[in-house]
Amino acid sequence: VQHLVRQPIQRLDEAVVNRIAAGEIIHRPANALKELIENSLDAGATLIKITLKEGGLKSLQIQDNGCGVRESDLPLLAERFATSKLRNFDDLSRMSTFGFRGEALASISYVSASMRVVSKTKDAACAYQASYACGALVPPKPGQSSAPRPCAGTDGTLITAEDLFFNVPQRLRALKSATEEYNRALDVAAKYALHYGGRGVGFVCRKASSNVADLSTPASPSTKTIDAIRALHGSAVSRELLHLTPLRNERLGFSVEGYISGANWSAKKTTFLCFINDRLVDCPGLKKSFEALYSAFLPRGGHPWLYIALKIAPEKVDVNVHPTKSEVHFLDEEDVIEEVCAHAQDVLSGSNSSRTFEFSQ
Ligand code: ADP
Ligand code: MG
Repeated sequence: VQHLVRQPIQRLDEAVVNRIAAGEIIHRPANALKELIENSLDAGATLIKITLKEGGLKSLQIQDNGCGVRESDLPLLAERFATSKLRNFDDLSRMSTFGFRGEALASISYVSASMRVVSKTKDAACAYQASYACGALVPPKPGQSSAPRPCAGTDGTLITAEDLFFNVPQRLRALKSATEEYNRALDVAAKYALHYGGRGVGFVCRKASSNVADLSTPASPSTKTIDAIRALHGSAVSRELLHLTPLRNERLGFSVEGYISGANWSAKKTTFLCFINDRLVDCPGLKKSFEALYSAFLPRGGHPWLYIALKIAPEKVDVNVHPTKSEVHFLDEEDVIEEVCAHAQDVLSGSNSSRTFEFSQ
């Protein structure tokens, strides 16, 4: 590369910049799916149906019954940094919705051969459809207009991304197994299905080649979180779970709730589902502390099952760490983790008292 370093410095083409940025966010179909699920949840959907062809590499489709996109918003839908959720920098500290920087759909349109959207708002007489590539509207077929076209459709949004990474051959080679990609995508869907199962949001996920869903949870307001856990993980686990009762800590500005396995459950690997402010995240520090807690009483090589839902005052969470937003950091992280684990310890030892007071609902 030495001879390249001696070349004059030039600005990269905007399209190249955007494609590089897109690759940072969307590594594999499961990342795209997570962004799309979060958009559907932000749109207030109660039913989210996912259909994947070749693990999402050939086609990734998501249908929701949320608020829909207005016809007038369609032209900007896939433009980078175009969002309906964030207006200025200060808003970042108050963000309660998932998406906040208008990068997801743009990224998907950059890494896919085509992205099609059909959407209908409640008050519109019909649905509108549009096709996108590289952040902009494109004609569905050569010679046609790229303007959104009226069509039939139900309330909500249907997004189909086709041929992911067709223009990133290195990426495609790295992702050689459609089965592996499907399983990762299914895992993301299953985690959201669990977290939202107790809040009336149903999920369906299937392969395009099959009529049988691999995941199907009801969109029913009467479903409880534990029912969703049983449906998704089976009763062998669910009956061994203890309710990590709601705990609120005013001083540290957080609350936590969840389900954790008791002393009779032990698996080869830890199952760790962690949501912070309803966003699926990696929180390695919390996972480590829980594993240490369980290592004290589980048999050697045994691991727990954990579902932890944390709420942290938005101004304490730095959601801006990484474009994929999978790792989240927050103020007083160590103190919060310590309190959460102390509460888990209390629950595990069957004592009702805890170091901070529980709030009544
Ligand atoms: P962000 O979520 O950060 O705003 P996205 O690129 O994910 O950025 O989405 C851009 C915009 O498109 C959103 O702000 C929202 O207005 C709209 N949108 C995306 N997906 C949906 C959906 N499923 N239903 C309704 N509106 C959507
Ligand atoms: Mg988004």
